[in-house]
Amino acid sequence: MSDVPADEAGARLTVDLGALKRNYQALAAMTAGAECAAVVKADAYGIGIEAAGPALAAAGARTFFVAHLSEARRLRAVLPSAAIYVLNGLFGEALATYADHQLRPVLGSRDDIERFSAFCSQTARRWPAAIHVDTGMNRLGLDLAEAALLAEPGPHALAFEPALLMSHFACADEPGHPLTARQVDRFAQVRGLFPGVPGSLANSAGCTMSAARHDLARPGVALYGARYRADRAPLEPVVRLDAPLVQVREVRAGDTVGYGATWSASRPSRIGIVSVGYADGYLRSAGTTNHQAGAYARVNGVTCRLAGRVSMDLIAIDVTDAGQAAPGDTVTLIGDGIGVDDVAEAAGTIGYEVLTSLGRRYNRRYTGG
Ligand SMILES: *Cc1c(COP(=O)(O)O)cnc(C)c1O
Repeated sequence: MSDVPADEAGARLTVDLGALKRNYQALAAMTAGAECAAVVKADAYGIGIEAAGPALAAAGARTFFVAHLSEARRLRAVLPSAAIYVLNGLFGEALATYADHQLRPVLGSRDDIERFSAFCSQTARRWPAAIHVDTGMNRLGLDLAEAALLAEPGPHALAFEPALLMSHFACADEPGHPLTARQVDRFAQVRGLFPGVPGSLANSAGCTMSAARHDLARPGVALYGARYRADRAPLEPVVRLDAPLVQVREVRAGDTVGYGATWSASRPSRIGIVSVGYADGYLRSAGTTNHQAGAYARVNGVTCRLAGRVSMDLIAIDVTDAGQAAPGDTVTLIGDGIGVDDVAEAAGTIGYEVLTSLGRRYNRRYTGG
């Protein structure tokens, strides 16, 4: 399964579906007693929803969350019987799409509730949906007063079937953040309003907290091997990114490399070039200057720093210390101990953004499927 033939691509992205499955099983063990769902929004955090969905289902996942209706339809095409929730609420006017493909909206506003209830009345059927209640994120979800109002006649009087009651953490990745405890309390309160409706609160970080477990956990980023809590090591890496050197050139001490001439060689140096750039999602902010260390790569087993800015389609690497690095040698940009979180840190961002930026021009290879 690959979009671009190997000999036409600048780099190879290897996705280890075996690691993805083991990460799912680790999270399912962590949340034992509750069901463990899988969040596969944003093309399964960049790794490819058509490959990730069936692998996660094979590992035992029965419930999935996506952000957009378009993603839900892609997932339904490969998973005919999974429960699929659409986190971002109701899309478009044609609510029949949810019914036709057995997709469950996550209703996160009064307007969502009214429109979906009207659709259920029109079709004379209580279609299943989740109710999203805001407990402190202030992004999507009914506020507590709106939730109380909705609950007033009791869950059985709703025009739709409340299949799930959920809320989302703002800071569960920062251990001990006081907002997390407040959200746990508020969610327990809200659950009291909807007796008999299953609850879901935990994202990846929440999977580590028994008070956040409820009936269904919703891990995302931990499945894909990125850091999910500041004080925990990530699970197994799922992606690696390798590219052949396309050229190696000699520069003199004082010569500059790349756009803006922001990096200059402090010694006679050898500069290796790979066909990967910010257009491939390798973030431009991971580049180096003489004052900023930036990201690194492994060349012939040696750790080498990037040299200068990341261009749209190319990266320069200082391979001076990497033996006789030559065109065709493999450069590892992610893998062999370089995690997505390391690239993220060099770029001033988080592993989520590195993963979801993974490019479309790579030769993608799926292993362990
Ligand atoms: C993205 C998302 C998740 C998964 O979060 P991770 O931090 O990636 O585990 C869970 N629930 C909701 C509502 C989300 O938007």
